[in-house]
Amino acid sequence: MDAHCPVCDQPMSWVSGHFRCDACHSEYQQTALCPDCQQPLQELKACGAVDYICQNGHGMISKKRVILTYSPYSEG
Ligand SMILES: [Zn+2]
Ligand SMILES: [Zn+2]
Repeated sequence: MDAHCPVCDQPMSWVSGHFRCDACHSEYQQTALCPDCQQPLQELKACGAVDYICQNGHGMISKKRVILTYSPYSEG
């Protein structure tokens, strides 16, 4: 999955559970939002694939429709 830095739009690298932008030396965590209600989606990981489920009644959301946002990563 390609992830781009929300600040400088450069490709970010995946580092043990979060993304890192080498260009700005910042780390971000990815949040998947429902395109219908903009609420965080539950991630179901199975066999290397990820399914996204909206808990507000929108059901399973196609990966193509998921809104991916990046917020500063904080450890802990
Ligand atoms: Zn950046
Ligand atoms: Zn929803």
